[in-house]
Amino acid sequence: MSRFLDVGVASLVPYVPGEQPKDAGYIKLNTNESPYPPSPSVIAAVKAESEKLRLYSDPETSDLTAAIAEFYGVGQKNVIAGNGSDEILAFIFKAFFGEKGAACPDVSYGFYPVFCSLFGIKYNPVPLDENFMIDASAYVDVMDNIVIANPNAQTGIYLPLDKVEEIARSRPDRLVVVDEAYVDFGGETAVPLTKKYGNLIVVQTFSKSRQLAGGRVGFAVADESLINDIKTVKYSFNPYNVGRLGIAAGCAAMKDREYFDACRSKIIATRGRVAYELAKLGFTVLPSKANFLLIRHGGVGGEEMYRALKQRGVLVRHLKDERIKDFVRVTIGTDDEMDVFLKKTAEILGELK
Ligand code: PMP
Repeated sequence: MSRFLDVGVASLVPYVPGEQPKDAGYIKLNTNESPYPPSPSVIAAVKAESEKLRLYSDPETSDLTAAIAEFYGVGQKNVIAGNGSDEILAFIFKAFFGEKGAACPDVSYGFYPVFCSLFGIKYNPVPLDENFMIDASAYVDVMDNIVIANPNAQTGIYLPLDKVEEIARSRPDRLVVVDEAYVDFGGETAVPLTKKYGNLIVVQTFSKSRQLAGGRVGFAVADESLINDIKTVKYSFNPYNVGRLGIAAGCAAMKDREYFDACRSKIIATRGRVAYELAKLGFTVLPSKANFLLIRHGGVGGEEMYRALKQRGVLVRHLKDERIKDFVRVTIGTDDEMDVFLKKTAEILGELK
């Protein structure tokens, strides 16, 4: 820490992203990326756009918001795009949460409390129930704004849409932000509900189901007045927040529905098979509708499992949160990658006997 660091920043505990090793030898199941490449139309669009990199990108990201609006059947004015959904979430926390505070599940995306400390927002963790489920009724009387990931981060458990609606309906004077980073792997999006509830913001990303984690594209859908408020923060911070390549990639990805459906169907099928095999090996597997599984084995601790797999060339994620420290989180890769993961896992368990 330098002697120049602001005291407010010195006390921050930043978010720690999963490892991104330079060594391509690992089977990488640690940051919930897609194991499949971007669609061929994305690659062609990015190549064509690279000719124009001399020029700034469109600050309104109009082509991208039009493609998103068309996909979801909402107005273009109901959409804002960002440099990954992390940026969109940061804009939202900054725009709306100062006075209200943020109520979030106690086990969820680790960035929510970090945004709270960055922007001086009160963080109110609401416990998941004993089965790691979000209890919608626990949010009804909460006065803070609410942020839930659905399916929830780390657990993968999906909260049915009627429960999301119940939370949004119960108190129209507080915002409900639904982070749907993983919704395309078996959940149902709350986007249509944004037409009915002026206090609901749905956030999504191109990083998981649209193969663009490195392209950094995310977006939010909400009532136009909320989108305009988010734009006030964006234009006070980084008007050209999505670069030309991100806009081109995002547009092409949104338009290639066939490729999107093919990739997510493969991941859903692989997830089912892997969950079944892990249960046979004696793992507790939380019921996931995401592109990852949170798993625990009585015979081996979470950290130990993570290390043993890493030694064998498979990277998974171990999260230190008290309630899930006995688990590891395993991204769903290709079938071949998951076969190696299952084989190495069985080996590790065999050696413990
Ligand atoms: N929300 C959740 C729940 C996530 O797990 C992630 C990925 N780490 C994000 C948002 C951010 O994704 P991105 O910034 O890549 O869009």
